[in-house]
Amino acid sequence: QADERESMYLVSEFANQFFQKKLHKTEQGKAIGLSYFKERGFTNETIKKFDLGYSPDLWDAFTEEALKSGYKLAFLEKTGLSIVKEQKKFDRFKGRVMFPIHSMSGRTLGFGGRILTNDKKAAKYLNSPESDIYHKSKVLYGIYHAKQSIAKEDNCYLVEGYTDVIQMHQVGIENVVASSGTALTADQIRLINRLTKNITVLFDGDAAGLRASMRGIDLILEQGMNVKVCTFPEGEDPDSFAKANTQEEIQDFLQQNSKDFISFKASLLVNQAEGDPIKKAEVVRDMVNSIAKIPDQIQQEIYLKECTRIMDVSEDVLYSTLAQLNAKNN
Ligand code: ATP
Ligand code: MN
Ligand code: MN
Ligand code: MN
Repeated sequence: QADERESMYLVSEFANQFFQKKLHKTEQGKAIGLSYFKERGFTNETIKKFDLGYSPDLWDAFTEEALKSGYKLAFLEKTGLSIVKEQKKFDRFKGRVMFPIHSMSGRTLGFGGRILTNDKKAAKYLNSPESDIYHKSKVLYGIYHAKQSIAKEDNCYLVEGYTDVIQMHQVGIENVVASSGTALTADQIRLINRLTKNITVLFDGDAAGLRASMRGIDLILEQGMNVKVCTFPEGEDPDSFAKANTQEEIQDFLQQNSKDFISFKASLLVNQAEGDPIKKAEVVRDMVNSIAKIPDQIQQEIYLKECTRIMDVSEDVLYSTLAQLNAKNN
C-alpha cells in the first residue's frame, strides 16, 4: 500500500515535469499555454514558481510518454492522469493549462486544468479525481508556497481559486490558499490552524459562493479560530483585483473591507429577512447557531451583544436560544 502510494507520487511528479516541459519547450505550448498565462499577467518567475504547465491538445501524448518512460499503466490510471476505456488509453487533461496541487511538503498530489476558451458548455476547470494520494477535502491549493508567510503574518487569506492564490502571491501577498471550488472542510482548516489562529475569507464579487460558504465558516469558528470576511467589488475576484492594483492598494482594500464574520453574517441575514417576522426568527436562530460553535464562552457573550444590536432582538431571547443550543452541543 505504501509502495503503491510512492509509485503514484512518482507518476504525478513525472506528469508535473512533463506538463512544464510542454509549456516551455514546445511551439504549441508556448503559443497557446504560455501566452495564456502571460495574458493573465503571470511573470516567468511566477509560472516557474507554481510549476504551471500545459497539456497538449492530443488524445494520449502524456500517457504514451509516461509508458515509454517505464511508468506502469496501473498507476497512471490510479492517479487519474490516464483513462482506459475499451482498451484504449486517453489523457484526462488535454488542451488545458495545468495547475499542480502540492502537499504541505511540496509533493505533487494532483492537478487542476483550465480550458483556454470561454466555451460555456465545457467545464472551466477539470481536477484530478480522488485517489490514495489526492484527497481533495484534505488539501489546500498553495499551502506549500504560503506556509512560511502564514506563520510570519499570523493570518491566512482563504480565496476561491488557483489564479487568486497566484496573482496575490505575485504582488507580494504570499499568505494565501484556496479551497479550489470545494466546500471548506474541517481537515482543510486544521492545516491552517497549525500555522495561525486567524483566517480572512475573501469572496469573489459574484455572490454565488457567499451563501454556500457560510456553513464552512462555522467550521472555522468551531476550531476556535478568528474569522474575518471580505467581499470584492461586483465582478471582481482577488485575481482580477490584484492584477489591476498595487500591493499597497490591495493591502488598503483588505484592511478597510475586512469585517468580523459574526457581524458580517448578522447584517447579511437581517437584510435577507426584510422585516418578515417568520424569516427573521429563522435567521436569528441561524445566527445563534454560529455563535454556539465558538468554544470560548466569553467570546460568545461579546458576539451575542453585538447581534442584539445589529439584528434588533432582545438579549434575553438570544441568551435562551444560545443556552438551548449549548446544552444540545455538550
Ligand atoms: P478563472 O479566473 O480562471 O476564470 P476562477 O478561479 O476565478 O477562475 P471561479 O469561477 O471563481 O474561477 O471558481 C473558483 C474555483 O472553483 C476555481 O478556481 C476552480 O478551482 C473551481 N471551479 C470553477 N469552475 C469549476 C468547474 N466547472 N469544475 C470544477 N471546478 C471548478
Ligand atoms: Mn467565484
Ligand atoms: Mn473567481
Ligand atoms: Mn478569476
